Amino acid sequence: MDSDRKDVIVVHYNEIALKLGHRPMFESRLVENIRRRLEDMPGAKVRTMQGRMLVRPGEADTDEVVRRLVVVPGIANVIAAREVDISIEALEEEIDRLLETWSPRGTFRVAVKRSEKRFRMTSPEVGGALGARIVAATGAPVNLKNADEVVHVEITQEGIYVGLNKIPACGGLPVSTGGRVLLLLSGGIDSPVAGLRMMRRGCRIDGLHFHSVPYLNRTSQEKARVLASILARGQGPTKVSMVAFGDIQSAIVAAVPRPLRVVLYRRMMMRIASSIARRDRLAALVTGESLGQVASQTLPNLSVIEDAATLPVLRPLVGMEKREITDYARRYDTFAVSIVPDEDCCTLFIPKHPATAAKLDEVIEAESLLDVTAMVQGAVAAREVETIGADWSAAPEELAAAI
Ligand code: ATP
Ligand code: MG
Repeated sequence: MDSDRKDVIVVHYNEIALKLGHRPMFESRLVENIRRRLEDMPGAKVRTMQGRMLVRPGEADTDEVVRRLVVVPGIANVIAAREVDISIEALEEEIDRLLETWSPRGTFRVAVKRSEKRFRMTSPEVGGALGARIVAATGAPVNLKNADEVVHVEITQEGIYVGLNKIPACGGLPVSTGGRVLLLLSGGIDSPVAGLRMMRRGCRIDGLHFHSVPYLNRTSQEKARVLASILARGQGPTKVSMVAFGDIQSAIVAAVPRPLRVVLYRRMMMRIASSIARRDRLAALVTGESLGQVASQTLPNLSVIEDAATLPVLRPLVGMEKREITDYARRYDTFAVSIVPDEDCCTLFIPKHPATAAKLDEVIEAESLLDVTAMVQGAVAAREVETIGADWSAAPEELAAAI
């Protein structure tokens, strides 16, 4: 009998459900995204079913499938479950099987959802019957409000799914429901978090990394690649443009007084990014800037920097403290890679006392000494484009150690 029951993963989403008018579009996008994230897993299949999605792992390892699902934007949580026939006897049998290897660590409850109204018992009746069975076997106390562990039972037209405890996933909206954006991706802590946060708002991310090879080594590029491979876990193969920035920086150093240089570097980044984004039909730029974090991120400087962009500049971290950003970086698995020491282009030619309130007219006057248009065109024409896929073979700490 045991072989009749199958492993399934029940996938829940919530925010999508709020987008009433667009619900079918959001659902089909999420199903498609899940399908692609599991593409290389033999036999894994996904489909929608009455307000949830059902993933069958096929020959793939259930834990490995779960590991992939929890980083797919749009998924709120998953339950590793078993599918049983639509009868109370089959349910009771499954609970007995569960009890062979499990008893509640503390309090527990049985949470029943019934979208198949032809099932002859109500949800409270099913919960009561199964709860009583677990109490009889283990003596564990029931707590309906705040249980330590939850046995989930979902009764649908096609089967009943029984699983222990929800596994939280990243939430948000499915990638590609919110447009495509260009992330200015340094090797630091902030920008990958900014990208992941926009990804969870439904944006598809392309990356742009400025490096200073041959003035500095290739470490920052390698970090950007590994960080892109972590973004790719959530959204699939990720396009990254590598742009050499060293010559532009040295031209600025040769022509512009020290305090203004940082703002000029960053305005050049904005111009190059805007040009690339327009070519690639991306709708906005994304940075990891946070107000007051460094000299270039004061309100007056952000405004002078943004003046050089020709697309909206999204700054999802603008109101966050470093500590909060770092917590996210750990949670999203980018931290270990971001803290690998590198020689970022921002460490090249950085003056000790950059202006904290650059004036736009002074900046524009300083820029008049440079052939800005030619510099931007040259940098864009020389960009190297790479497509970076998800790397599931190693933990982020191992990926970091290999840089
Ligand atoms: P991060 O931790 O993301 O490097 P940061 O606190 O070091 O950020 P800055 O160096 O001032 O801040 O950079 C602010 C933002 O500018 C970054 O979050 C990133 O979006 C962009 N940026 C900085 N350096 C680069 C680079 N080398 N390539 C691409 N984008 C960059
Ligand atoms: Mg940086």
